Amino acid sequence: MSVKLQNMSDRLSAVQIHGHAIAVPDGRQHSPLPRARSKSPAVHGSRRVALTPISIPPRTRTPSPRARTHRTPSPRPLSATGSRPASAGQVDGGDPVGRAATLYPTSMFSFETFRRRDSGDTFRRIVVEESSRSKEKRPVSSMSTADSEKTESGSDADVDAEGRKRKGKPGIVRRRRLPTALVITLDTTRARSQLDVIRLALKQLGRGWREYPHGRKAGSDMYWSVPAFNDYDDFPSGVINKLPGMKDMSNKANLSQALDRMHQLFPEAFDFFPTTWRLPEEFHQFCAEVRVLKERRGKRYKPTFIVKPDEGTQGGGIYLLQDPHDVKSIGMVRPAVVQEYLTNPYLIDGYKFDLRIYVLLANIEPLEIYIGREGMARFCTVPYQSPSRMNLHESYMHLTNYSLNKYSDGFIHSEDGDIGSKRTLSSVLQRLKRRGKDVDKLWKDIEDIVLKTIIAILPEIKTFHHVMLPPGKSQGRPKCYQLLGFDILLTSDLKPILLEVNSNPSLKIDAEREVSPGVMEAIPSPVDEEIKVPLVRDVLKVMKPQKKKPVPKSPSKVLDNLTDEKKGDGDDNSTDENRNLSEDSAGSSDSNANLLKELDQTREREKLVLLELYPRLEKQYEHFRLVERVAALFCQFVGIRGTTRMGPTGFRTFTRTCKLHSNGLTTAAIDILYIDMARRWAHAIPDRTAGLCFQGFIDAFFYIARRKFYNRCEQFAEMVAALIDHCEGNLEERGTLFRAGVFASPL
Ligand code: ADP
Repeated sequence: MSVKLQNMSDRLSAVQIHGHAIAVPDGRQHSPLPRARSKSPAVHGSRRVALTPISIPPRTRTPSPRARTHRTPSPRPLSATGSRPASAGQVDGGDPVGRAATLYPTSMFSFETFRRRDSGDTFRRIVVEESSRSKEKRPVSSMSTADSEKTESGSDADVDAEGRKRKGKPGIVRRRRLPTALVITLDTTRARSQLDVIRLALKQLGRGWREYPHGRKAGSDMYWSVPAFNDYDDFPSGVINKLPGMKDMSNKANLSQALDRMHQLFPEAFDFFPTTWRLPEEFHQFCAEVRVLKERRGKRYKPTFIVKPDEGTQGGGIYLLQDPHDVKSIGMVRPAVVQEYLTNPYLIDGYKFDLRIYVLLANIEPLEIYIGREGMARFCTVPYQSPSRMNLHESYMHLTNYSLNKYSDGFIHSEDGDIGSKRTLSSVLQRLKRRGKDVDKLWKDIEDIVLKTIIAILPEIKTFHHVMLPPGKSQGRPKCYQLLGFDILLTSDLKPILLEVNSNPSLKIDAEREVSPGVMEAIPSPVDEEIKVPLVRDVLKVMKPQKKKPVPKSPSKVLDNLTDEKKGDGDDNSTDENRNLSEDSAGSSDSNANLLKELDQTREREKLVLLELYPRLEKQYEHFRLVERVAALFCQFVGIRGTTRMGPTGFRTFTRTCKLHSNGLTTAAIDILYIDMARRWAHAIPDRTAGLCFQGFIDAFFYIARRKFYNRCEQFAEMVAALIDHCEGNLEERGTLFRAGVFASPL
C-alpha cells in the first residue's frame, strides 16, 4: 500500500511539473505546489473533485499567515503499516491527490483545466470517472451531493447555500469547521482493537464528531476504553463506556450468585439460567445434589455438566463431564463454575448455535437500558449429537465460540449474513419464522432475560459506583455506561437460556482464516461490520452529552430543519449548520423548543438500531428492583468511603438505627451473624480488605427478614420487602434516609 502511495505521489508531481509550471507574481518559476498544499480541498470535504489553482490571482498571492498554517499541516509520522495515521480531530480528511491515489487506480481519474468565467482564473481539478467510482468502494466524505454538484459546475463554487460569496481562494470549496463547542470530542487513546469499528461509526456520524486518538489536553466529551473501569487509577470526567464493577459482576461466579439471589426471591420469574455451583467452595454441595438427583431419577439418568473457569473467556479451559468426580484438580484451586449442561439445544441444519445480543446499560440511576435490534448467531462446526462419553471432548460440536470454531475445517466464512458459521440474528429469526415459530414471543422472552439480568446485577454495580465515584463530588465525576454482550442458547422448544454476560463483547470487524496449520490470515468480515458499525454508531449517539442546542424561530423552521436533516442520512452536518444558523434566535417560545425536542426524540428513536427497554417497560419490572433498596442501605452504613466492605461497627449501627433488635436478635446474635457472613463471603470480589461485602450483607439481611417476618408474610420476597420498609421507615423518622438519588449520575 505504501509503495503504491509513493508511486502515485511521484507520478502526480511529474504531471504537475510537466503539465503546468506555476506563475507567481514576482516572476520566479515556482516549483509545483507542495503536496501538503493540495490537501486543502479534501479538508473541506470535496469528494469528487479536488481543485488545484495553477494561477494565483493577485488578491490571493500572499495568503494570510493563518491561512498558510491551516493549509500546510506538519508532516505526520508513518504508522507501522506504512500508512499515515489520521490526525487528531480529522475523521475522514486527507489529501485529495493522495486519497484519490489510495482509492482509485490511476486510470480512474484525470486532471482537467478550466477557466472561471467571472475572474478569468485558471484552475486544475481531479476528475474521478463516474463509472469507475460506482465499481470501486465509495470514497468517504460527508459532503452532500448538492455541494459536490455545485463544485463541479465551477461557476457556483464560490457561492454558498445562502447565495453569499465564500471567503478564501476561489475554486476551493470551504466547509465551515464546526465550532468545538458544538462538536462531540471522542478520546480513543484506550480503544485498542476497537478503533476500526469506532472510526467507521464516526464516519457515519459525520462532521459533528471529532476523534482524538492521542488524547486531548482540554479533556474530551467522551472516552472509549477497552480496559475496565477498575483497571485505571483515575478516569477523567466526561462520558465513559465503562461502569465501575461491571467486569467483576459479569464474571461467571458473581453473575450466577446474583441470579441465584433473585431466584430465591422470585423463583418462577428467574428460571432462565442453568443450575450453577461455584468451585471450589460448593464442590461438596454439587456432588451431594447430583447424588440425590440420580437416586430420584434412577440409574439410567446420566446428567452432563460443563465446567468453566470463573474469569475464562472465548471457551478457554471449558470441558464437559458426567461424573462430578471428574472435575479436574485445577477446578479445585482456581475459581470456576460447574453448570448443568443443556443437552437439547435448538438446531439449525443439525448444528448447535447461540445468540449474541447487544445491550446498552446507558444509565444506572435513573435506569436506562437499550437492546440491539441486530445481533449475531454463532454456529458450531460439527453436527450436534447428545453428549456421551464418546463425544464429550468434541469442542467444535458442543461449544459455539467463534474463537474456537475458526480453527475448524468446517468453519464457513460467508459474506452473506444468512449462511455460514457467523450469521446475523435477524436472518436466524427469519428462518425460525419461516418454520412457523413464534418469533415475537421469543424476542419478548429475550428482552425479559435482559431486563431481569440487569436488575439482578444492578445492586452490586450501584454499590461499586457509589464507592468509586462518591456522590458529593459531582465535579469531574464521569458519567458511565456500558455495552454488554448477552450469550443466549435456545432450547429445542425455543426457550431462551442465558449462558453468560460479556462485559467486553468483541467489536472486531475482521475475521481470521487459517491458511495453513496455525497460520491465520485476517480477512474482512461483512457480517461483523453490518452488525457492529451501526451498533457502535448508535451507542455513541445515545450516549453523547447534550451540547447547547439553539432554538429556531418558528415551528416551520423546526420542520425545515428536520427535513434537511433527513436528506443527509447519517450525516449530522445539516443539523449542526442549522443549529448554528439559528443560534441568534434563542429567545423563541418554549412551545417551539418542546416541539423541536419531541420531533427530535421521535426521529432519533426511529432511526436507532437500539431499542429502548427501560424505562419503557418500567411498570412490568419495577417490583423486581428490591435488592437495590438494600444496596442503598448498605451504602449508607458502609462507612469509610473507598471500600466495599462494612466493618462490625457499621453493621451494629445499621441494626440499631433500623431497630432490628427484636425477635431474639440480641446484640450478641447480631455480632455472630456479622462474623459468620463475613467469613462465608471472605472470598467474594477480592479487594483484600476485611469486613462484610455487599453479598454477605444481603445474606445477613435475608436472614433477618426471615426471622422478623416469617409469620407475617407468605412469600420470601414479601418478607424482604417488609424488612426494607421497616428499615427505611425508621431512617425516615430520623431524617437520615438515603434517597434513590444517591446513585444518580453526574451529567
Ligand atoms: P466463555 O466465556 O468462555 O465463552 P461461555 O459460558 O460462553 O464461556 O460458554 C462457552 C460455550 O459453551 C457457549 O457459547 C455455549 O456454546 C457452550 N455452553 C456454555 N454453557 C452451556 C450450557 N450450560 N449448556 C450448553 N452449552 C453451554
